[in-house]
Amino acid sequence: MRSELPELLGETYASLAERACAFAQRELAGLEEEPQDAAAEDALARQSLSKLAREGLLAYAVPAAETTHHPATATALVAGANGGAASTPDVRSIAILRETLAYWSGMADLAFVMQGLGSFPIALAGSPELKGRWLAAVAGGEAIAALAITEPEAGSDLASIRLEARKDGGDYVLDGVKTLISNAPIADLVTVIARTGPGEGSKGLSGFAVPGRHAGLDRSERLRLIAAHPIGVLRFSGCRVPASWRIGGEGDGARIALATLSRFRPTVGAAAVGFASRAFDEARRRAKERVQFGRPLAEFGAIQCKLAEMATLIDAARLLVYRAAAAL
Ligand SMILES: Cc1cc2nc3c(=O)[nH]c(=O)nc-3n(C[C@H](O)[C@H](O)[C@H](O)COP(=O)(O)OP(=O)(O)OC[C@H]3O[C@@H](n4cnc5c(N)ncnc54)[C@H](O)[C@@H]3O)c2cc1C
Repeated sequence: MRSELPELLGETYASLAERACAFAQRELAGLEEEPQDAAAEDALARQSLSKLAREGLLAYAVPAAETTHHPATATALVAGANGGAASTPDVRSIAILRETLAYWSGMADLAFVMQGLGSFPIALAGSPELKGRWLAAVAGGEAIAALAITEPEAGSDLASIRLEARKDGGDYVLDGVKTLISNAPIADLVTVIARTGPGEGSKGLSGFAVPGRHAGLDRSERLRLIAAHPIGVLRFSGCRVPASWRIGGEGDGARIALATLSRFRPTVGAAAVGFASRAFDEARRRAKERVQFGRPLAEFGAIQCKLAEMATLIDAARLLVYRAAAAL
């Protein structure tokens, strides 16, 4: 189901939507979406990411100001809705890209958005050293990013986070468990929200940029989802990191995490609209092909009503998503 919404949003967004669609048809349509094992799943994630990087699309998820020196990024920004000037990602552009990517490949959508979610805390509050080390690499697809907030006992409720970051001289020592972390098995950068102030609720949290391969960080436990998705558990035990890897000040963690989630939240809806549009197209195709009682299913009124209702709900959802995206 083609969306006219990008046209309604204006020329820049319409051409981004066209470009995304052409890219997806060319690069994603033939990808194997049901890898049989973990190695194949990781390979698909890496393949999707490198295609997005080559096309310069990751630039839309990773803030512009610090990344313009990457050649693919620079091209995307000149042509893109950000115009190369924004220091925060443009939510409407991300929504357009996620809707299109999700339609064609859940893995490509995941690869795209995690680069943004994992790096935005650094763009928002990181030191020049952290920005220099990570942002261009993430925007160029050379470093895979993850954002580690959720714990076994802390989901919606950030204030329950327990993973401890204990100050020890010029370092912090991290101990605790994160779970349901997308890209955990393959990430080069893990942005971790940890507790630096015990007993202070969400005020006692701080962010850290930790390399995915680091002493004291075990990421061997994978989780299985219905769809292909490299996701797992991160166990920190005596994981020592220099204080310079802290993102922002002590106690800024909840603010940074919530600002990151708020920026990207409407785009979760955009991805859902992409998935729903694909489901609709598959249902319509099947209804046209399948013959029962001497006629294709699509000729029966009840089926037509179902399809019409699906199309209406998807379109309404799309309008809500882009209205929310435009408000940010
Ligand atoms: C595919 C997938 C990928 C993920 N990737 C990441 C990732 O990369 N990084 C990361 O940190 N986390 C990730 N998560 C975890 C995700 O962010 C959490 O699932 C989410 O924060 C909700 O936490 P929970 O699952 O513990 O649910 P809970 O917090 O236990 O909530 C359970 C239900 O109760 C509802 N609920 C909770 N509190 C209230 C309330 N006060 N009032 C009313 N209803 C309430 C919730 O809406 C939900 O429906 C991922 C999850 C999934 C499924």
